[in-house]
Amino acid sequence: MANSAGGRVTATPYDENAYDQRWLDELNQWTWQQVPGTHRWQTKGRCPRCHHETELEVEATVSLAPSAFPGSSGRLIHSPPATVEFRCFCDETHKKGKTGCGLRIPGMRGP
Ligand SMILES: [Zn+2]
Ligand SMILES: [Zn+2]
Repeated sequence: MANSAGGRVTATPYDENAYDQRWLDELNQWTWQQVPGTHRWQTKGRCPRCHHETELEVEATVSLAPSAFPGSSGRLIHSPPATVEFRCFCDETHKKGKTGCGLRIPGMRGP
């Protein structure tokens, strides 16, 4: 039954609680690229758990720099998040109605 020939459901079972420190280490090797003209960053690679191609996109956090002069509006600062939560968005079906293999790892290095 482990043979995946012809099957749409892959061998790695969907699991939102799976965790392995090595997966996080692997994710921290990924390189981020800023999406031109935006305050978003993308990275992609193979999910360390199910090994399917997946992409991740994060948005800058926006903060307001306080203005030095009373009455004038502050300046918006867009800074990439220091850490992000990785989620698997691979195209394979691990479980009907769900996206990816369920892997979520907080603490991945941000852009
Ligand atoms: Zn997968
Ligand atoms: Zn996965």
